[in-house]
Amino acid sequence: ATGPISIAQYMKEVLTSSLSGYYMVGDVFGRQGDFVTSPEISQIFGELMGIWFMTQWQSQGKPDKIQVIELGPGRGTLLYDMLNAMTNFNDCFRSICEVHLIEVSPKLREIQYQKLCSSSRSTFDGLKFFWHDTFNEIPDKWSMIIAHEFFDALPIHLFERASNGWREVMVDIDDTNNSLYNFRLIVAPGPTKASIAFTGSIAYEKFKIGDRIEISPDSMKISKQIAKHIKGNGGTSLIIDYGQDFIQGNTLRAIKRHEFVHPLSDPGQADLSADVNFRYLKESVADLVDVYGPVTQSKFLQSLGIKARLLMLLKNALPAKRKDLISSTERLVHPSAMGEIYKVLAFVPKGSLEVPVAFEKSND
Ligand code: SAH
Repeated sequence: ATGPISIAQYMKEVLTSSLSGYYMVGDVFGRQGDFVTSPEISQIFGELMGIWFMTQWQSQGKPDKIQVIELGPGRGTLLYDMLNAMTNFNDCFRSICEVHLIEVSPKLREIQYQKLCSSSRSTFDGLKFFWHDTFNEIPDKWSMIIAHEFFDALPIHLFERASNGWREVMVDIDDTNNSLYNFRLIVAPGPTKASIAFTGSIAYEKFKIGDRIEISPDSMKISKQIAKHIKGNGGTSLIIDYGQDFIQGNTLRAIKRHEFVHPLSDPGQADLSADVNFRYLKESVADLVDVYGPVTQSKFLQSLGIKARLLMLLKNALPAKRKDLISSTERLVHPSAMGEIYKVLAFVPKGSLEVPVAFEKSND
């Protein structure tokens, strides 16, 4: 009815439309689902995140009455393993009073509730859990904030460099006979609202005609909200995702049952995501917090002692479980699996003296 729509609008409809959005209707994770994420691969992933946050809590003066926040918690596995690991550090665990989950999907909220709050899990007794639609609703308090594979699901705009400026690549209906998906990508003939609003800071002269770039204004907005929260209340955040420390133009992808499919082929039935541009996130918060990273997931997990933790689990594991434990750890850290493409970025309050564990002094 409105003519072509932006890729951002397409992603938003496909992923989170309340009627049939991909995330809204069911459990999409795991072997039976469409894709597997690190926390679902190994409990060690969430445990080490918990330990990292504990070290930050210590280095920021062991604040009292704090909260844990996760954006896009999926099945709740990461939070579960993280909190579980923190129960081993009683003074830290006891200072946590609230846990806030930012989740659009009613179905996933239910799964998270079952995982974290069902009565059989008394481990987290005393913690109060809250669900929110957006980060805006988060109360002011010192916070541990984590987002794993959340930013890659946020909508991107795609722009192509023309001879006289950036032109937006949009999704159009294609009802010709040779159409594969009933949709096609077109390049807008003139500027769009988004091309005017979001390409201003891009070094136009560095690109050739025909080059494409992806920009995610929602990512910038949310990372700024997180950074402002940390600036105002103290706390720290980890953003873990696949992506690069530079801008890219061809990373939008769709995954269905562990296979890549065309992003326009089956809207609502396949996951859609794009590489995170960590540079863009860093630049958007540089005046609010100190930023460290991105470091590779491999380096991050190894600095936190993934090997030692694996050995400990192996000692107590049944022989049949051992192979599984080893191969899942390998998958998280191996460069050709998830070790290099996944990266970790940290925000800490400005002027923090200690370099966070697993990071290096930043030169930016
Ligand atoms: N962190 C989990 C899940 C990653 S999938 C894991 O690693 O396993 C992305 C998650 O973000 C899902 O829980 C999805 O429902 C949620 N999500 C996607 N877009 C969102 C948005 N705009 N606002 C809030 N949650 C969103």
